[in-house]
Parts: sequence; structure tokens; C-alpha cells
Amino acid sequence: MTNTRDMNAATQGVSEARVGSADGRPQPEADETLTEMSIIQTDYLVVGAGATAMSFVDTVLSETDADVTMVDRRYRPGGHWNDAYPFVRLHQPSAYYGVSSRELSNWTKDKTGLNRGLYGLASAAEVLAYFEQVLQDRFLPSGRVRWLPMSEYSAAADGAHYVRSLTSSERVRIEIRKKLVDGTLARTEIPATHQPKFSITPGVACVTPNRLPDIRRPYPAYAVVGSGKTGMDACIWLIQNGVPPSRIRWIMSRDAWLLNRENFQPGANDVDRTLGSVIGQFEAITEATSVADLFSKLEQRSLLMRIDKTIEPTTYRCAIISPAELAQLQRIADIVRLGHLRAIEPMRIVLDKGALDADPDTLYVDCSARALTPPPGIPVFDGDRINLLMVRFCQPLFSAALIAFVESHFNDPVEKNAFCAVVPTPDRPTDWLRMWATTLANQARWQRNERVRNWLAQCRLNNAVAMMRGAKPNDEVKLERFKEAAAKAGAAAAKLPDLIASFACGEGDGTHE
Ligand SMILES: Cc1cc2nc3c(=O)[nH]c(=O)nc-3n(C[C@H](O)[C@H](O)[C@H](O)COP(=O)(O)OP(=O)(O)OC[C@H]3O[C@@H](n4cnc5c(N)ncnc54)[C@H](O)[C@@H]3O)c2cc1C
Repeated sequence: MTNTRDMNAATQGVSEARVGSADGRPQPEADETLTEMSIIQTDYLVVGAGATAMSFVDTVLSETDADVTMVDRRYRPGGHWNDAYPFVRLHQPSAYYGVSSRELSNWTKDKTGLNRGLYGLASAAEVLAYFEQVLQDRFLPSGRVRWLPMSEYSAAADGAHYVRSLTSSERVRIEIRKKLVDGTLARTEIPATHQPKFSITPGVACVTPNRLPDIRRPYPAYAVVGSGKTGMDACIWLIQNGVPPSRIRWIMSRDAWLLNRENFQPGANDVDRTLGSVIGQFEAITEATSVADLFSKLEQRSLLMRIDKTIEPTTYRCAIISPAELAQLQRIADIVRLGHLRAIEPMRIVLDKGALDADPDTLYVDCSARALTPPPGIPVFDGDRINLLMVRFCQPLFSAALIAFVESHFNDPVEKNAFCAVVPTPDRPTDWLRMWATTLANQARWQRNERVRNWLAQCRLNNAVAMMRGAKPNDEVKLERFKEAAAKAGAAAAKLPDLIASFACGEGDGTHE
């Protein structure tokens, strides 16, 4: 173990080669000169073959006869999952993930471990194998998808589109008949590919979670840097692999509100609980007298959870954990809440609000990457470009499928954007309210349109479809619950603007950010 972090060298090199801008969107190449090169004509040029792009293309193939060119600088689809730490799993049950036309879940519940009794969470290896199968078994045999791996996309100053092979330097010009689809906007940051914002004195052992399984001797002390889902996963992995919680220090710049995975279970047997939790959120919104009161109500109903009930969370990022995982995390007593880490020295750590002594033989685990970065304020349908952004609460893959459906069946850009108002990528607790406000407005528009409504009724990525899986076709009791949810969604939607105005006007959101 060294302090040379295990950055993925290939990805690093690619990052340097990429011509980008401050907002991260692909930008013109400076020295683009027109030499003789092949030209590809295509309906959709999809930049990125991450999860959202795969979901978009899958639905375009189902809904149209368009042809698609997909380009990614990686050698296989799956985006950030290619760089994931080996013990990562989906946060949500696999049943909600993947592309619409193909199941990822085997619909069994875990029998052991901290997810026991809950539906399975695919590992990174399973997610990658799944996307590879989608490409090989569906996309390529369709004859309508051209796959350009190991290739960098860029746009010239005149708007022309180019793809350059990273292995042969061959450059191809792409002529787009319909749209460019940007599947890169999540700008997913994970520990293996990011540069930490703190300094590390040479000789200090600091690794990313990708290298944790390489530990070959016990360390007297372990310190996990980062309070996001990756930091939680690293803490839990250490405990599950025999490290006593008393030897773990957790450096947490911000406490987070967490979603309870028990409330996200698909399938008819769990519909009462899952739908009940959605109804519970709507009731909490409707009954809340202030934002602080809302979060208190959400916690009382076990809809949101936190590590320490005496500390007001200042972040919310859609992280989902099970109560059993939370209980393990709560065994860690040495939680450092002194702001961001600035430096790791052999004998101490330096943070925004102070310094603390440290065991010189500590193994630091850097989990400080941000995962999802809020994208620039742009619409989904943006002239001749489609931006793959979230249009439903914490559901990026369903969102991409819905965007593809809307693109396939509607023409008016105003109407299309009305179906696909952008749900903000969350960061602060109050974003929970903003996400619901946009989600509910979008859902109301979808339900008013017969075509969208019919598509939703059969899309396996749609929560309601996953929840009703295995139910009798006319199960009146369950259908009544859905009607109740719709009515309470309406009441919540009516109340949300007032709650949002209360903190937007500077009256304080009760979360002490
Ligand atoms: C640990 C973790 C767990 C998660 N669990 C869940 C879950 O349970 N459920 C859920 O719904 N979501 C989950 N997510 C979110 C989800 O998986 C995706 O992270 C999110 O949708 C973003 O994926 P993406 O495809 O948009 O982006 P990325 O995965 O970042 O893919 C973008 C792709 O674009 C390529 N690219 C970028 N620029 C260029 C260029 N100029 N030329 C060529 N290629 C380019 C990159 O190489 C990359 O492959 C999780 C995320 C993380 C990090």
C-alpha cells in the first residue's frame, strides 16, 4: 500500500485527451481540420454507453425503426460501473434497474447478510455482464445499432460531429439525421477516477475502496474519508471483514438523510409497504407545518433515516440503505465532523474546523468522490440535442426510457419538455422537496396523456409496474391503494410550492445548512 492512489491510468489518459468545458459537456476540438475521412450517417448519435444511454437506446429500438450510433471511450458498455470497487452493489433492488426490454433481477430475496429479506442488489460484475448481453443479444443483432467503443466524441466549432478511435487514431465524421443524445451529463465521479481534494504526505497509506480487498496485513487503525454511499459501503465492508468498529474512524464532512431500502421493495407481496411508504411521504408533505416538521415526520415514519438522531443532516443524495446496514454504521463511535479533510499527515489529520491526532499506521480509504454531479441548467430536449437527465425521483434509467418514448412519439419540443421537466440531482435536504415537486408535475402530465399512460402501464422500469408484479390482474384492494396514492399525490403537489417558497425566500429550511 502506498500513497500513490490507484487511479485508473487508462481513464486518466483519456481525460487529458478530452476536450471539455467547465460544464463538462463535449466541446469543439481546437484543431479540427477536414481531412479525408469516413462519414457515417445515422438517426441518433448517442455519446456514452453508460446505463442511461443503454436505457434510451433500448426504448428507441422498441418504439421506432431509427438507427443509432453509440460511441464510448470505454471498451464496453456500463459507464462508471467499469471503474467500480469490487464489492459495490446497486443501491436499489435490481428489479428497477437496467433497460426496459430485459430483466436484470432474478426476483429472489437475499437469505443472508445485511440485505436479508429484501430483493437482491446486482453487483458491478452482474451489471456489466447484463449491459454486455443487452448490446450483444439485442442492440447489435437488430442491425440498427452501430457500436464505436474505444472512441472519443467531439464537436467542431461549426457544429460538425467527430469520433476519433483511441486505438488507431482513425477519425470519422458523423452526419446526424435526427438528434445527438448526450449520455455523459451525470459526470459520475467515483473514487477510482477522481483526484482527492486533500493532500497526503508521502508515506501515508491511502487507497481507494477498489484496493481494499488487496489488504495483506492488519492495520491498527482505519479511517474512511467520505460520508456518501461509498463511504458507508467501505465502513460496512471493513466491519464485515473483521475490523472492530472501534478501530474505524469515519471522516464525515456532512451527515446525510438516507432512504430506507425496506420501502423500495418491488412485487405484489410488498406492495402494501412500498406503496404505503409513498403515500406516507405524500401525507407527511400535506400535514407538515414547516420544512423542519416535514423531515421530522418523515423520520418518525421510517421514510428517512440518519446515522445520528442528534445531528441534523445537511445533505440528501438518494442514498438507500437497509436498517441492518444502518445498525452496523451506528457501531462506529469515532466520527469526525470537522468539515472537509484538507491534509493527511503521518501523526494528524487537518480539517476545515481543526486538526486531530492520528495513528501513523492508519490505512486511509478515500471515498470522497461526489458520485453524481448536478448537471448544468439545461432542458432535456434542447434543439438538435437530447440531454439524458432525470425526470423522476431517483430513477435515472426509467427517466432515460421515458425520454426515448417521448422522443419517439411526440414532435412539439414544448410539449416534449413539459413531459420531461428536469428533476434536480439532489445535494441538500431541501432538494428532496424540489425532486418531488417536479416528479409529481411530470407524473400528472404523463397520466393525462393516453399514449404515455399506456406505455407506463407496461414499462417494467416503471415503479408501479414493478410493484404490481405477481398481483392478480384485478386485485381491487391493491388498485384502490394506487387510487389513494394518486389522490394524495395531488394534495402533496398542491402543498409543495408553499413549503419550497418558505426556504426559497430565506425563511430557513430548518435543516441548518
Ligand atoms: C455506486 C453507485 C450505485 C448506484 N446504484 C443505483 C441504483 O441502485 N439504481 C439506480 O437507478 N441508479 C443507481 N446509480 C446511478 C446510475 O447507475 C448511474 O450512475 C447514473 O444513471 C449515471 O449513469 P450514466 O450512464 O448517465 O453515466 P456514466 O456511467 O458516467 O456513463 C457516461 C459514459 O460516457 C462516456 N463518455 C463521456 N464523455 C465521452 C466522450 N466525449 N466520448 C466518448 N465517450 C464519452 C464515459 O466513458 C462513460 O462510459 C448508482 C450509481 C453509483 C455511482
